Amino acid sequence: MTRLVAISNRVARPSGGAKSAGGLAVGLLAALEEHGGVWFGWNGRTVDGEPGDVSLEEVGPITFATTDLNKLSYELYYNGFSNTSLWPICHYLLGFYRYERREFDEYRRVNALFARKLLPLLQPDDIIWVHDYHLIPLASELRRAGVTQPIGFFLHTPFPDIEVLRVLPVYRQLLRALCAYDVVGFHTPRDLKCFRDAIEERDIGGIDNADRRGLSRPPVSDVFPIGIDVDACQTLAVETGEKDNVRRMVRHLHGRELLIGVDRLDYSKGLVSRFLSFARLLENYPANRNHVSYIQIAPTTRSGVRAYLEIREELERLAGKINGRFADVDWVPIRYLNRAFDRPTLMAFFREANVGLVTPVRDGMNLVAKEFIAAQDPEDPGVLVLSELAGAAQELRDAVLINPYDRDGVADGMHQALSMPLEERRERHQRMLEILRRNDITAWRTRFIDALLAARRDRTNSS
Ligand code: ADP
Repeated sequence: MTRLVAISNRVARPSGGAKSAGGLAVGLLAALEEHGGVWFGWNGRTVDGEPGDVSLEEVGPITFATTDLNKLSYELYYNGFSNTSLWPICHYLLGFYRYERREFDEYRRVNALFARKLLPLLQPDDIIWVHDYHLIPLASELRRAGVTQPIGFFLHTPFPDIEVLRVLPVYRQLLRALCAYDVVGFHTPRDLKCFRDAIEERDIGGIDNADRRGLSRPPVSDVFPIGIDVDACQTLAVETGEKDNVRRMVRHLHGRELLIGVDRLDYSKGLVSRFLSFARLLENYPANRNHVSYIQIAPTTRSGVRAYLEIREELERLAGKINGRFADVDWVPIRYLNRAFDRPTLMAFFREANVGLVTPVRDGMNLVAKEFIAAQDPEDPGVLVLSELAGAAQELRDAVLINPYDRDGVADGMHQALSMPLEERRERHQRMLEILRRNDITAWRTRFIDALLAARRDRTNSS
């Protein structure tokens, strides 16, 4: 029987519950429920010595298989190469990029360790689906160990233009490693084009046959835009509306219009510029003073990387400065909450908001944009202000599209959203909702798994 084996850096353990899980976890859990299988990855713990045995937890048809990592290894592989080399490059943010050879070496060693630990769990009929930039070399490690099952890779970040990728001294190795997959998937046509150009135009060197085992051609590469569970977001938004913290939030608005932003605290999300653009809104359109409130929810992530701690301080300073300049005795313009909320509460906040601010300076997709649209009341929907540089903008053309670097332009977009007539809001929302339904989370996972099954048929036919 065909089982799905999914591998990602972190595993959403069952104790967290699908209700609290984000898009990726929801999609993978549903696929694993359907096919049965294994979800393998890091358990979130670091240890001083060698990692212990893989821990196995069976929940229905799914086996959650997790390993810990050595402390130094984690530092070099995760904070180092993954998040200080690859993440900034994939987001075209070279000011944050740094390369250290020993971090790359450890990145490869952790991938080899994952492959070794996964190997005994594999069965001949499995299909294997690897997620994200932390694990690019995993297929070549598995191939070297003799694995012939179809292996797919999905990149959740943008795939950068080759001219940007070239700042990585090891870019050829990474491109060769991607060629060890049967299927390689991206969010947008632009990412796909960058990938194909990179492998076609560049001399990436001979691809080791051992890495490719049975692959006689380049990987099948395609676009698989990740989506959300639209009905689940809608239901959560409606059902959670009466919760105490949602009511308290609404009471504090005193009838003012609400702009909301929900992001991980990451420099790619453009939060500093967003705060400055909000100040520009109050400057350029003074009628909004004391009539709008902006809530930004942004919990700290990747606290082991210095740049992440620095934006936190910068945002606290800026919120204080903007509030100091514009606040009144009964009005605080920005409320900045450096913490996470559960999904139901977030969906209810979205539904209460008049404007959703999603203004990353670069983003693979951005699920918050989609969740915001899904959570709206179709009869009186809020308006999404969306960065053209987010993958989601390829689908959500009816958002108010802005360039996040243009502060006056973003302020204009916020003002346009705040003053948009009801009829136009409804029409735009309706069109976007249709797109969300077409490209939902089920379509994403089903199309990718179908591509992996097709790859297996191709292999059987050609052998
Ligand atoms: P990224 O994967 O870069 O974090 P996405 O917008 O694609 O960005 O996905 C983020 C996911 O995490 C969404 O499902 C969103 O609801 C959730 N999320 C983002 N910010 C928070 C927060 N402050 N609290 C709880 N969940 C959050």
